[in-house]
Amino acid sequence: MIYPMLIDGEWYTGSESALKDVINPATGEVLGQIPLGTREDAGRAVEAAHRASKQLARMTVFERAELCVRIADAVERNQEKLARLLAMENGKTYSDALGEVKGAVAGSFREAAEQIKWMNDAIIPLRDRNMRSYTYRKPRGVYGIISPWNFPLGNPSVYYLAPGLAAGNALVWVPALTSAAVASEFMRVLEEAELPKGALNLVIGEGPVVGDAVVVHERTNAIGFTGSTPTGNTIAARAKGKPCLLELGGNGPTIVLEDADLDLAAAALVRASFANAGQVCTSTERVLVHDGIADRLVSKIAELTAEVKLGDPFDGATTMGPVHTSQVADKVLSQTKDAIAKGAKLIAGGKAQEGRPTGQYIEPTILDHVTVDADINVEETFGPVLPILRFNDESELPALIASSPFRLAAAIFSKNIDKAMMMAEQMDFGYININEGSNYWDTMIPAGGASGSASGVGRSGGKWSIEEMTELRTVNVRFSGV
Ligand code: NAD
Repeated sequence: MIYPMLIDGEWYTGSESALKDVINPATGEVLGQIPLGTREDAGRAVEAAHRASKQLARMTVFERAELCVRIADAVERNQEKLARLLAMENGKTYSDALGEVKGAVAGSFREAAEQIKWMNDAIIPLRDRNMRSYTYRKPRGVYGIISPWNFPLGNPSVYYLAPGLAAGNALVWVPALTSAAVASEFMRVLEEAELPKGALNLVIGEGPVVGDAVVVHERTNAIGFTGSTPTGNTIAARAKGKPCLLELGGNGPTIVLEDADLDLAAAALVRASFANAGQVCTSTERVLVHDGIADRLVSKIAELTAEVKLGDPFDGATTMGPVHTSQVADKVLSQTKDAIAKGAKLIAGGKAQEGRPTGQYIEPTILDHVTVDADINVEETFGPVLPILRFNDESELPALIASSPFRLAAAIFSKNIDKAMMMAEQMDFGYININEGSNYWDTMIPAGGASGSASGVGRSGGKWSIEEMTELRTVNVRFSGV
């Protein structure tokens, strides 16, 4: 079975010589094949989007809202089918995949349909009584959307596809190569919802080939990208001044102060470290704990981690599946080894589970006494590891926080809300959760990195994506006056 691209309303399987196997991370089995598109394919998709953008911009807000509702309905009709392929291609549990499709995908199209009707703008007071000035939001035109594999449908839908279509942009979507099969299946669902021809085109291929061709194309007006920091930096440079919404990596700290509710903190830390096998940009990637409570916290974390059920994504008892690729597994294991070599103590996990069909069943891992110079403290891990660094005095926190360049999400646990709020307001992160795991999120919350950090530019989610994906048009009118 070949999972095709959709360009200008036509299914396209590319050239037969350029096909790539789709591998199930849980079994190693081949699920089918995807075509590897060319720069020319990407160019055709941008041209098609350019033509469609004229039609989309002419549709009223209410017509575009109806399109989004039709898409949400079609997604819900097909949710089991989409979730099944999503879990098989990605490795996440079927129940998480179903949650992603129902919540993030269908939900984001319903929310965009509502939001777009209320994006009111201004009549601007002027000094000249015979002038009127008003603003409105207009679509930017053709958006290149490049997305990652960790939430293959949820991430692009919430951040770009739903708000982008609602706002009247035409889109060219390049999914990660390892999540392109489910993207193709999603396009079939969009067809069922009578997506206008060329309004959303799917181009499958290597990011540096088709993704780059979309970014640099003269008819691409703007870019929405979620992925790693190095790729984001390349795209920003290649886009040469086009508006770029960049959602990049995270490695935010979760701070546990001496007065924290340890049961609450331990439960949230385990959830936020092992949900989606830690492959979430807001995962708890490093925990900074006051030494006075660290031993008690570590033993509570270890107890709860023992309850994480690593296994077959389609077994109802499984709470964590294998990691997505062998590269992710290698990175997790090498960072764990590096941390231990630099002085960390392994409390649990630290290896791939034996007797599994692939080497990607990484056990939920806890590392205590991690040192500041460990790679796992400085870099993003993107896997099921909970690294703990200890401090004796809160005056050590600023340096510990600054020891990694990512500033996406952070969390603080303390019973003293005044103090936690003061800390939160002084910390320079895109968003900060108090007495909740760093991964607490809702489609209505704006997400994004702090300016100047390695975590990106702009805010996605809720009405903020619509704001980013539109531009303000101002009309000034002279009239005969009053
Ligand atoms: P990645 O950077 O390897 O790839 C992301 C996408 O970029 C893929 O579609 C890939 O094909 C494409 N790409 C690669 N090179 C390209 C190039 N030169 N030009 C154009 N496109 C190119 O990232 P990934 O491994 O797929 O995803 C994991 C990363 O995503 C992590 O760093 C994670 O933190 C980040 N992420 C961030 C958020 C957020 O909201 N900030 C959310 C989810 C994931």
